[in-house]
Amino acid sequence: MANEGKITMGGNGQLLVPDFPVIPFIEGDGIGPDIWKASVRVFDAAIEKTFGSRKKIVWKKVLAGEEAFHKTGEWMPAETMQIFKDYLVAIKGPLTTPVGGGIRSLNVLLRQELDLYVCQRPIKYFEGVPSPMWQPEKVDMVIFRENTEDIYSGIEYMTGTEENKKLLHFLTDELKTKKIRFPETSSIGIKVVSREGSERLIRAAIQYAIDNKLPSVTLVHKGNIMKFTEGAFKIWGYELAEREFPHHTYTWSQWETTKKERGEAVANEDMRIAAVGGKVIIKDAIADNFLQQALLAPQNYSIIATLNLNGDYISDALAAQVGGIGIAPGANINYKTGNAVFEATHGTAPKFANTNSMNPSSLILSGVMMFEYMGWRDVADRIKAAIGKTIRQKTVTVDFYNLMQDAQLLSTSAFGDAVIKNL
Ligand code: NAD
Repeated sequence: MANEGKITMGGNGQLLVPDFPVIPFIEGDGIGPDIWKASVRVFDAAIEKTFGSRKKIVWKKVLAGEEAFHKTGEWMPAETMQIFKDYLVAIKGPLTTPVGGGIRSLNVLLRQELDLYVCQRPIKYFEGVPSPMWQPEKVDMVIFRENTEDIYSGIEYMTGTEENKKLLHFLTDELKTKKIRFPETSSIGIKVVSREGSERLIRAAIQYAIDNKLPSVTLVHKGNIMKFTEGAFKIWGYELAEREFPHHTYTWSQWETTKKERGEAVANEDMRIAAVGGKVIIKDAIADNFLQQALLAPQNYSIIATLNLNGDYISDALAAQVGGIGIAPGANINYKTGNAVFEATHGTAPKFANTNSMNPSSLILSGVMMFEYMGWRDVADRIKAAIGKTIRQKTVTVDFYNLMQDAQLLSTSAFGDAVIKNL
Protein backbone atom coordinates (compact mmCIF):
# COMPACT_ATOMS: atom_id res chain seq x y z
CA MET A 1 0.00 0.00 0.00
CA ALA A 2 1.20 3.49 -0.73
CA ASN A 3 2.36 5.37 2.33
CA GLU A 4 2.21 2.27 4.55
CA GLY A 5 4.65 2.21 7.41
CA LYS A 6 5.65 2.94 10.95
CA ILE A 7 4.51 5.90 12.95
CA THR A 8 7.63 7.94 13.74
CA MET A 9 8.61 10.96 15.81
CA GLY A 10 9.26 14.18 13.91
CA GLY A 11 12.03 16.60 14.82
CA ASN A 12 9.53 19.02 16.35
CA GLY A 13 8.26 16.43 18.86
CA GLN A 14 5.11 15.74 16.80
CA LEU A 15 4.15 12.25 15.65
CA LEU A 16 4.38 11.55 11.91
CA VAL A 17 1.50 9.26 11.00
CA PRO A 18 1.38 7.71 7.51
CA ASP A 19 -2.01 7.16 5.87
CA PHE A 20 -1.64 3.40 6.36
CA PRO A 21 0.12 3.13 9.73
CA VAL A 22 1.22 -0.29 10.95
CA ILE A 23 0.02 -0.70 14.53
CA PRO A 24 1.01 -3.68 16.67
CA PHE A 25 -1.65 -5.19 18.92
CA ILE A 26 -1.81 -7.81 21.68
CA GLU A 27 -5.19 -9.54 21.87
CA GLY A 28 -4.69 -10.36 25.54
CA ASP A 29 -5.66 -13.29 27.75
CA GLY A 30 -9.00 -14.42 29.20
CA ILE A 31 -11.70 -12.18 27.74
CA GLY A 32 -9.04 -10.38 25.64
CA PRO A 33 -9.73 -12.17 22.31
CA ASP A 34 -13.52 -11.60 22.62
CA ILE A 35 -13.25 -7.88 23.33
CA TRP A 36 -10.43 -7.37 20.80
CA LYS A 37 -12.46 -8.94 17.96
CA ALA A 38 -15.40 -6.62 18.67
CA SER A 39 -13.15 -3.56 19.10
CA VAL A 40 -11.08 -3.95 15.94
CA ARG A 41 -14.23 -4.15 13.82
CA VAL A 42 -15.42 -0.87 15.36
CA PHE A 43 -12.02 0.78 14.69
CA ASP A 44 -11.91 -0.31 11.04
CA ALA A 45 -15.53 0.67 10.38
CA ALA A 46 -15.04 4.12 11.95
CA ILE A 47 -11.90 4.77 9.89
CA GLU A 48 -13.68 3.75 6.71
CA LYS A 49 -16.67 5.98 7.53
CA THR A 50 -14.35 8.90 8.17
CA PHE A 51 -11.70 8.52 5.47
CA GLY A 52 -13.17 6.11 2.89
CA SER A 53 -10.22 4.26 1.37
CA ARG A 54 -7.78 7.15 1.94
CA LYS A 55 -6.60 5.85 5.31
CA LYS A 56 -6.53 2.47 7.04
CA ILE A 57 -4.66 0.79 9.87
CA VAL A 58 -2.48 -2.20 9.03
CA TRP A 59 -2.83 -4.31 12.17
CA LYS A 60 0.24 -6.29 13.23
CA LYS A 61 -0.41 -9.07 15.72
CA VAL A 62 2.31 -9.59 18.35
CA LEU A 63 2.52 -12.14 21.13
CA ALA A 64 2.48 -11.63 24.90
CA GLY A 65 0.93 -13.35 27.89
CA GLU A 66 -0.40 -16.90 27.86
CA GLU A 67 -0.43 -17.27 24.08
CA ALA A 68 3.23 -16.19 23.92
CA PHE A 69 4.14 -18.53 26.77
CA HIS A 70 2.56 -21.53 25.03
CA LYS A 71 4.19 -20.75 21.68
CA THR A 72 7.61 -19.44 22.73
CA GLY A 73 8.10 -20.29 26.42
CA GLU A 74 8.29 -16.57 27.24
CA TRP A 75 5.56 -14.35 28.67
CA MET A 76 6.89 -11.23 27.01
CA PRO A 77 9.12 -12.22 24.08
CA ALA A 78 12.00 -9.82 23.35
CA GLU A 79 10.68 -9.51 19.79
CA THR A 80 7.36 -8.11 21.06
CA MET A 81 9.14 -5.54 23.21
CA GLN A 82 11.32 -4.52 20.24
CA ILE A 83 8.30 -4.15 17.96
CA PHE A 84 6.52 -1.99 20.56
CA LYS A 85 9.65 0.18 20.78
CA ASP A 86 10.04 0.52 17.01
CA TYR A 87 6.42 1.14 16.03
CA LEU A 88 5.81 3.71 18.82
CA VAL A 89 2.02 3.32 19.06
CA ALA A 90 0.42 0.03 20.15
CA ILE A 91 -2.77 -1.28 21.72
CA LYS A 92 -3.42 -4.25 23.98
CA GLY A 93 -6.04 -6.28 25.78
CA PRO A 94 -5.55 -7.45 29.37
CA LEU A 95 -2.74 -9.88 30.24
CA THR A 96 -2.53 -12.52 32.94
CA THR A 97 0.04 -11.76 35.60
CA PRO A 98 2.39 -14.78 35.67
CA VAL A 99 2.68 -16.39 39.10
CA GLY A 100 6.34 -16.72 40.16
CA GLY A 101 9.26 -16.36 37.74
CA GLY A 102 10.27 -12.90 38.96
CA ILE A 103 7.88 -10.91 36.75
CA ARG A 104 5.79 -8.56 38.84
CA SER A 105 3.39 -7.87 35.99
CA LEU A 106 3.66 -7.77 32.20
CA ASN A 107 2.15 -4.30 32.23
CA VAL A 108 4.72 -3.02 34.71
CA LEU A 109 7.42 -4.59 32.52
CA LEU A 110 6.15 -2.75 29.45
CA ARG A 111 5.92 0.55 31.31
CA GLN A 112 9.45 0.18 32.65
CA GLU A 113 11.09 -1.01 29.41
CA LEU A 114 9.49 1.73 27.31
CA ASP A 115 9.77 4.31 30.11
CA LEU A 116 6.06 5.14 29.72
CA TYR A 117 6.01 7.78 32.41
CA VAL A 118 2.43 9.00 32.04
CA CYS A 119 -0.50 6.76 32.88
CA GLN A 120 -3.41 8.68 31.42
CA ARG A 121 -7.02 7.90 32.33
CA PRO A 122 -9.94 10.00 31.11
CA ILE A 123 -12.98 9.83 33.38
CA LYS A 124 -16.09 10.98 31.58
CA TYR A 125 -19.72 10.06 31.99
CA PHE A 126 -21.80 8.57 29.17
CA GLU A 127 -25.49 9.35 29.57
CA GLY A 128 -27.45 6.30 30.68
CA VAL A 129 -24.55 4.36 32.22
CA PRO A 130 -25.54 3.09 35.67
CA SER A 131 -23.61 5.14 38.23
CA PRO A 132 -23.67 5.43 42.04
CA MET A 133 -23.48 9.24 41.69
CA TRP A 134 -26.41 11.61 41.98
CA GLN A 135 -25.14 13.80 39.11
CA PRO A 136 -22.48 11.74 37.34
CA GLU A 137 -22.56 14.06 34.31
CA LYS A 138 -20.56 16.55 36.40
CA VAL A 139 -17.56 14.21 36.33
CA ASP A 140 -15.19 15.07 33.48
CA MET A 141 -11.53 14.65 34.39
CA VAL A 142 -8.31 13.28 32.94
CA ILE A 143 -5.88 11.71 35.38
CA PHE A 144 -2.13 11.97 34.73
CA ARG A 145 -0.57 9.40 37.06
CA GLU A 146 3.23 9.24 37.36
CA ASN A 147 4.07 5.75 36.20
CA THR A 148 7.74 5.06 36.97
CA GLU A 149 8.63 5.93 40.56
CA ASP A 150 7.19 6.56 44.06
CA ILE A 151 6.72 3.68 46.49
CA TYR A 152 6.05 1.51 43.39
CA SER A 153 9.71 1.42 42.36
CA GLY A 154 9.90 -2.07 43.88
CA ILE A 155 12.67 -1.24 46.37
CA GLU A 156 11.43 -3.10 49.42
CA TYR A 157 12.97 -5.56 51.83
CA MET A 158 11.16 -8.22 53.85
CA THR A 159 11.76 -8.19 57.57
CA GLY A 160 14.43 -10.69 58.65
CA THR A 161 16.41 -10.60 55.37
CA GLU A 162 20.05 -9.54 55.22
CA GLU A 163 19.20 -6.51 53.07
CA ASN A 164 16.58 -5.44 55.56
CA LYS A 165 19.04 -5.72 58.45
CA LYS A 166 21.66 -3.70 56.57
CA LEU A 167 19.19 -0.96 55.78
CA LEU A 168 17.87 -0.93 59.33
CA HIS A 169 21.42 -0.68 60.63
CA PHE A 170 22.12 2.25 58.30
CA LEU A 171 18.94 4.04 59.30
CA THR A 172 19.28 3.62 63.04
CA ASP A 173 23.08 3.77 63.48
CA GLU A 174 24.16 6.15 60.73
CA LEU A 175 21.14 8.37 60.25
CA LYS A 176 20.18 8.02 63.93
CA THR A 177 16.49 7.76 63.24
CA LYS A 178 14.34 6.71 66.15
CA LYS A 179 11.18 6.69 64.10
CA ILE A 180 10.97 2.99 63.36
CA ARG A 181 8.51 1.78 65.96
CA PHE A 182 9.16 -2.00 65.75
CA PRO A 183 12.59 -2.45 64.08
CA GLU A 184 12.78 -6.18 64.73
CA THR A 185 9.69 -6.95 62.71
CA SER A 186 9.56 -4.13 60.16
CA SER A 187 9.61 -4.71 56.43
CA ILE A 188 10.89 -1.60 54.70
CA GLY A 189 9.99 -0.01 51.37
CA ILE A 190 11.58 3.08 49.85
CA LYS A 191 9.66 5.94 48.30
CA VAL A 192 11.52 7.60 45.43
CA VAL A 193 10.23 10.87 43.98
CA SER A 194 12.55 12.86 41.72
CA ARG A 195 12.34 16.38 40.37
CA GLU A 196 12.84 15.10 36.80
CA GLY A 197 10.18 12.41 37.15
CA SER A 198 7.68 14.83 38.68
CA GLU A 199 8.39 17.59 36.18
CA ARG A 200 7.98 15.48 33.05
CA LEU A 201 4.62 14.20 34.32
CA ILE A 202 3.35 17.65 35.34
CA ARG A 203 4.65 19.20 32.10
CA ALA A 204 2.64 16.66 30.08
CA ALA A 205 -0.48 17.38 32.16
CA ILE A 206 -0.23 21.16 31.70
CA GLN A 207 0.48 20.83 27.97
CA TYR A 208 -2.56 18.57 27.59
CA ALA A 209 -4.74 21.13 29.40
CA ILE A 210 -3.47 23.92 27.13
CA ASP A 211 -3.87 21.89 23.92
CA ASN A 212 -7.41 20.83 24.82
CA LYS A 213 -8.45 24.23 26.26
CA LEU A 214 -9.20 22.78 29.69
CA PRO A 215 -9.61 24.98 32.76
CA SER A 216 -7.29 23.62 35.43
CA VAL A 217 -4.55 21.25 36.54
CA THR A 218 -4.76 20.04 40.13
CA LEU A 219 -1.62 18.62 41.75
CA VAL A 220 -2.88 15.92 44.12
CA HIS A 221 -0.44 14.95 46.88
CA LYS A 222 0.06 14.08 50.57
CA GLY A 223 2.70 16.76 51.02
CA ASN A 224 1.37 17.72 54.43
CA ILE A 225 2.80 14.45 55.79
CA MET A 226 5.44 13.34 53.24
CA LYS A 227 7.05 16.74 52.83
CA PHE A 228 10.15 15.93 50.80
CA THR A 229 8.54 13.52 48.36
CA GLU A 230 4.88 14.44 47.85
CA GLY A 231 5.38 17.99 49.19
CA ALA A 232 8.27 18.47 46.77
CA PHE A 233 6.08 17.18 43.91
CA LYS A 234 3.67 20.02 44.60
CA ILE A 235 6.38 22.70 44.87
CA TRP A 236 8.16 21.47 41.72
CA GLY A 237 4.82 21.54 39.92
CA TYR A 238 4.09 25.18 40.74
CA GLU A 239 7.67 26.18 39.93
CA LEU A 240 7.50 24.39 36.59
CA ALA A 241 4.23 26.10 35.63
CA GLU A 242 5.69 29.54 36.40
CA ARG A 243 8.98 28.82 34.66
CA GLU A 244 7.81 26.99 31.52
CA PHE A 245 4.22 28.14 31.00
CA PRO A 246 4.08 31.75 32.27
CA HIS A 247 1.78 32.90 29.45
CA HIS A 248 -0.60 29.96 29.66
CA THR A 249 -1.10 29.38 33.38
CA TYR A 250 -2.25 31.14 36.51
CA THR A 251 -1.58 29.70 39.92
CA TRP A 252 -4.68 29.55 42.06
CA SER A 253 -3.56 32.46 44.25
CA GLN A 254 -2.77 34.64 41.19
CA TRP A 255 -6.21 33.83 39.82
CA GLU A 256 -7.96 34.80 43.06
CA THR A 257 -6.02 38.06 43.26
CA THR A 258 -6.86 38.98 39.66
CA LYS A 259 -10.53 38.33 40.23
CA LYS A 260 -10.56 40.39 43.44
CA GLU A 261 -8.85 43.26 41.61
CA ARG A 262 -11.61 43.18 39.03
CA GLY A 263 -14.14 43.26 41.85
CA GLU A 264 -15.49 39.81 40.99
CA ALA A 265 -16.51 37.16 43.47
CA VAL A 266 -14.08 34.30 43.95
CA ALA A 267 -15.85 31.00 43.64
CA ASN A 268 -14.82 27.50 42.77
CA GLU A 269 -17.70 27.22 40.34
CA ASP A 270 -15.93 29.67 38.04
CA MET A 271 -13.23 27.17 37.21
CA ARG A 272 -14.64 26.13 33.86
CA ILE A 273 -15.18 29.71 32.77
CA ALA A 274 -11.55 30.44 33.51
CA ALA A 275 -10.46 28.46 30.48
CA VAL A 276 -12.23 30.91 28.24
CA GLY A 277 -9.78 33.53 29.47
CA GLY A 278 -7.21 31.30 27.82
CA LYS A 279 -5.23 30.42 30.91
CA VAL A 280 -5.03 27.15 32.80
CA ILE A 281 -5.29 27.43 36.58
CA ILE A 282 -2.69 25.44 38.52
CA LYS A 283 -3.90 24.44 41.98
CA ASP A 284 -3.29 21.62 44.42
CA ALA A 285 -5.27 19.38 46.74
CA ILE A 286 -4.29 16.99 49.51
CA ALA A 287 -5.19 13.49 48.34
CA ASP A 288 -7.72 12.60 51.04
CA ASN A 289 -9.55 15.89 50.62
CA PHE A 290 -9.44 15.44 46.85
CA LEU A 291 -11.19 12.07 47.08
CA GLN A 292 -13.91 13.75 49.09
CA GLN A 293 -14.20 16.73 46.75
CA ALA A 294 -14.28 14.46 43.69
CA LEU A 295 -17.56 13.10 45.06
CA LEU A 296 -19.00 16.35 46.41
CA ALA A 297 -17.96 18.83 43.72
CA PRO A 298 -16.45 16.98 40.76
CA GLN A 299 -17.20 19.91 38.45
CA ASN A 300 -14.31 21.82 40.04
CA TYR A 301 -11.68 19.44 38.72
CA SER A 302 -10.41 18.88 35.22
CA ILE A 303 -6.82 17.59 34.84
CA ILE A 304 -5.37 15.71 37.80
CA ALA A 305 -1.57 15.34 38.05
CA THR A 306 -0.48 12.97 40.78
CA LEU A 307 2.07 10.46 42.01
CA ASN A 308 2.00 6.74 41.34
CA LEU A 309 0.23 5.34 44.42
CA ASN A 310 -2.31 8.18 44.73
CA GLY A 311 -2.95 7.83 41.01
CA ASP A 312 -3.64 4.14 41.31
CA TYR A 313 -6.34 4.66 43.95
CA ILE A 314 -7.78 7.77 42.33
CA SER A 315 -8.09 6.13 38.88
CA ASP A 316 -10.28 3.31 40.12
CA ALA A 317 -12.29 5.44 42.54
CA LEU A 318 -13.16 7.95 39.81
CA ALA A 319 -13.80 5.22 37.22
CA ALA A 320 -16.41 3.77 39.58
CA GLN A 321 -18.19 7.15 39.65
CA VAL A 322 -18.88 6.95 35.92
CA GLY A 323 -19.70 3.27 35.49
CA GLY A 324 -16.63 1.33 36.50
CA ILE A 325 -14.31 -1.19 35.07
CA GLY A 326 -16.00 -2.24 31.82
CA ILE A 327 -15.88 1.27 30.38
CA ALA A 328 -12.66 2.86 31.74
CA PRO A 329 -9.92 3.28 29.11
CA GLY A 330 -6.25 3.97 29.67
CA ALA A 331 -2.95 4.86 28.04
CA ASN A 332 0.70 4.71 29.02
CA ILE A 333 2.75 7.34 27.22
CA ASN A 334 6.27 8.70 26.89
CA TYR A 335 5.73 12.07 25.22
CA LYS A 336 9.45 12.46 24.47
CA THR A 337 10.03 9.24 22.52
CA GLY A 338 6.43 9.06 21.30
CA ASN A 339 6.03 5.50 22.62
CA ALA A 340 2.49 4.83 23.78
CA VAL A 341 0.54 1.72 24.74
CA PHE A 342 -3.25 1.99 24.89
CA GLU A 343 -5.04 -0.61 26.99
CA ALA A 344 -8.22 -1.79 28.61
CA THR A 345 -7.81 -1.01 32.30
CA HIS A 346 -9.60 -4.10 33.60
CA GLY A 347 -7.98 -7.53 33.90
CA THR A 348 -8.53 -10.79 32.02
CA ALA A 349 -11.71 -11.80 33.92
CA PRO A 350 -10.72 -15.47 33.33
CA LYS A 351 -14.11 -16.82 34.50
CA PHE A 352 -15.67 -15.19 31.45
CA ALA A 353 -13.08 -16.20 28.83
CA ASN A 354 -14.68 -17.21 25.49
CA THR A 355 -18.19 -16.42 26.73
CA ASN A 356 -18.60 -13.49 24.32
CA SER A 357 -20.45 -11.67 27.11
CA MET A 358 -18.17 -8.97 28.56
CA ASN A 359 -18.16 -5.25 27.79
CA PRO A 360 -15.65 -4.24 25.09
CA SER A 361 -16.08 -0.49 25.81
CA SER A 362 -12.88 -0.14 27.84
CA LEU A 363 -10.80 -1.40 24.91
CA ILE A 364 -12.84 0.50 22.31
CA LEU A 365 -12.41 3.74 24.28
CA SER A 366 -8.68 3.01 24.63
CA GLY A 367 -8.70 2.96 20.84
CA VAL A 368 -10.43 6.34 20.92
CA MET A 369 -7.52 7.68 23.00
CA MET A 370 -5.13 6.16 20.48
CA PHE A 371 -6.84 7.91 17.57
CA GLU A 372 -6.72 11.22 19.48
CA TYR A 373 -3.02 10.67 20.13
CA MET A 374 -2.44 9.97 16.41
CA GLY A 375 -4.32 13.11 15.44
CA TRP A 376 -7.23 11.15 13.91
CA ARG A 377 -9.68 13.11 16.03
CA ASP A 378 -12.68 12.68 13.71
CA VAL A 379 -12.42 8.91 14.02
CA ALA A 380 -12.20 9.23 17.80
CA ASP A 381 -15.20 11.56 18.03
CA ARG A 382 -17.27 9.31 15.75
CA ILE A 383 -16.64 6.24 17.93
CA LYS A 384 -17.29 8.11 21.17
CA ALA A 385 -20.61 9.40 19.84
CA ALA A 386 -21.61 5.92 18.64
CA ILE A 387 -20.85 4.33 22.02
CA GLY A 388 -22.86 7.09 23.70
CA LYS A 389 -25.80 6.47 21.38
CA THR A 390 -25.66 2.68 21.86
CA ILE A 391 -25.81 3.08 25.63
CA ARG A 392 -28.62 5.65 25.42
CA GLN A 393 -30.55 3.12 23.32
CA LYS A 394 -30.12 0.75 26.29
CA THR A 395 -28.54 -1.95 24.16
CA VAL A 396 -25.75 -3.07 26.48
CA THR A 397 -23.64 -5.97 27.76
CA VAL A 398 -24.44 -7.87 30.94
CA ASP A 399 -22.55 -5.60 33.38
CA PHE A 400 -24.78 -2.62 32.52
CA TYR A 401 -27.86 -4.73 31.75
CA ASN A 402 -27.95 -5.96 35.36
CA LEU A 403 -28.09 -2.39 36.65
CA MET A 404 -30.46 -0.82 34.09
CA GLN A 405 -34.21 -0.96 33.65
CA ASP A 406 -35.79 -1.98 30.34
CA ALA A 407 -32.42 -2.63 28.73
CA GLN A 408 -31.71 -5.11 25.95
CA LEU A 409 -28.95 -7.63 26.66
CA LEU A 410 -26.26 -7.93 23.99
CA SER A 411 -23.23 -10.18 23.64
CA THR A 412 -19.76 -8.66 23.19
CA SER A 413 -19.89 -9.07 19.41
CA ALA A 414 -23.49 -7.82 19.15
CA PHE A 415 -22.53 -4.72 21.17
CA GLY A 416 -19.74 -4.16 18.63
CA ASP A 417 -22.32 -4.48 15.81
CA ALA A 418 -24.63 -1.99 17.55
CA VAL A 419 -21.80 0.55 17.87
CA ILE A 420 -20.90 0.08 14.19
CA LYS A 421 -24.52 0.69 13.21
CA ASN A 422 -24.45 3.94 15.19
CA LEU A 423 -21.18 5.25 13.72
P1 NAD B 1 -10.51 -8.41 36.40
O1 NAD B 1 -10.57 -6.96 36.03
O2 NAD B 1 -10.01 -9.33 35.38
O3 NAD B 1 -11.95 -8.89 36.79
C1 NAD B 1 -12.68 -8.54 37.93
C2 NAD B 1 -14.17 -8.56 37.60
O4 NAD B 1 -14.49 -7.37 36.89
C3 NAD B 1 -14.60 -9.70 36.66
O5 NAD B 1 -14.90 -10.87 37.35
C4 NAD B 1 -15.83 -9.10 36.00
O6 NAD B 1 -16.96 -9.26 36.83
C5 NAD B 1 -15.50 -7.61 35.93
N1 NAD B 1 -15.00 -7.23 34.59
C6 NAD B 1 -13.71 -7.16 34.18
N2 NAD B 1 -13.65 -6.80 32.90
C7 NAD B 1 -14.91 -6.61 32.49
C8 NAD B 1 -15.51 -6.21 31.24
N3 NAD B 1 -14.80 -5.93 30.15
N4 NAD B 1 -16.86 -6.16 31.17
C9 NAD B 1 -17.61 -6.43 32.24
N5 NAD B 1 -17.11 -6.78 33.44
C10 NAD B 1 -15.79 -6.88 33.57
O7 NAD B 1 -9.60 -8.51 37.73
P2 NAD B 1 -8.94 -9.77 38.42
O8 NAD B 1 -9.90 -10.91 38.43
O9 NAD B 1 -8.41 -9.25 39.70
O10 NAD B 1 -7.68 -10.16 37.53
C11 NAD B 1 -7.62 -11.25 36.61
C12 NAD B 1 -6.26 -11.27 35.93
O11 NAD B 1 -6.05 -10.08 35.17
C13 NAD B 1 -5.05 -11.36 36.87
O12 NAD B 1 -4.08 -12.21 36.29
C14 NAD B 1 -4.55 -9.94 36.92
O13 NAD B 1 -3.20 -9.87 37.26
C15 NAD B 1 -4.79 -9.49 35.51
N6 NAD B 1 -4.90 -8.02 35.33
C16 NAD B 1 -4.42 -7.52 34.17
C17 NAD B 1 -4.56 -6.17 33.90
C18 NAD B 1 -4.03 -5.62 32.60
O14 NAD B 1 -3.55 -6.39 31.76
N7 NAD B 1 -4.11 -4.32 32.37
C19 NAD B 1 -5.20 -5.32 34.82
C20 NAD B 1 -5.72 -5.88 35.99
C21 NAD B 1 -5.58 -7.26 36.24
